[in-house]
Amino acid sequence: MVISLQKVYRDLKNTLSREIEGADFEAREIVRAVFGVSNTDLLLGREAELDEGRRERLAELAARRLRHEPLQYLLGEWDFYGRTFAVGEGVLIPRADTETLVERALDFLKGRPAPTVLDLCAGTGCIGVTLAAERPDAEVWAVEKSEAAWQYFCRNNASYGGRVHGLLADALEPPAALPARFDLIVSNPPYLTAEEMAELQPEVAKEPAMALDGGIDGLFFYRALTKAYAGRLGPGGMLAYEIGMGQEGQVSEILHNSGLDFICQTPDLHGIIRVVTAKNKFSSK
Ligand code: GLN
Repeated sequence: MVISLQKVYRDLKNTLSREIEGADFEAREIVRAVFGVSNTDLLLGREAELDEGRRERLAELAARRLRHEPLQYLLGEWDFYGRTFAVGEGVLIPRADTETLVERALDFLKGRPAPTVLDLCAGTGCIGVTLAAERPDAEVWAVEKSEAAWQYFCRNNASYGGRVHGLLADALEPPAALPARFDLIVSNPPYLTAEEMAELQPEVAKEPAMALDGGIDGLFFYRALTKAYAGRLGPGGMLAYEIGMGQEGQVSEILHNSGLDFICQTPDLHGIIRVVTAKNKFSSK
């Protein structure tokens, strides 16, 4: 039967608003995905065929969302830095916060031809794949430990030319296949504290704990990764971490204690310090 997209959207919004904040936006995203239409189609009051398949799909997605499955998992993809990444159960959803890390990285790489870059705890690959796409002259490596996340990494890497050398391995023990030196090492490691892990929003609780849990004080990976990789920065090379709110003091200290220098903190769009970077001391810059 032919039905008004506006009506489908309104009904879905009403259903979702029982449980979900921002039901407005989410209902629109789901209708767009199920009917393969644009926001304009919705705004212009267009009609579409509501067949049995679409009816079932709508009902299924509404039910899953009411159980607090993240919208991004339902859609199966999410945008990051202007590109679309495959996401789903078992992998951390790319977040706008992380674009701050990408911007900082790209800034650093300006004027450095053919840089060698490493992305640790790569997840969907949103950081490494973006850097490789933005800098076709870069040699980018990525390490991810989770088999589930790895499937998404491979799909996303393939979607954007397969330029990243991915390794399914534990970043805490630098894989032998990695180059000896990097110009830039980036990571958005798990950084939530035990206290934060105990009170996750229901949606975040559906994301892999392995991508969130940073140990008791949230700093486990900053200590371990800095210890394992600070010595692998080339002259003037930079290590760049995404951090959780309020972690800048402690992460800066970890970087400083490892012998790195030129420590710099960068805020995200909300003014929260989101990225901490440090450079190899034997630097010309
Ligand atoms: N940004 C995520 C959150 O706040 C955490 C991701 C991470 O630990 N790297 O839920």
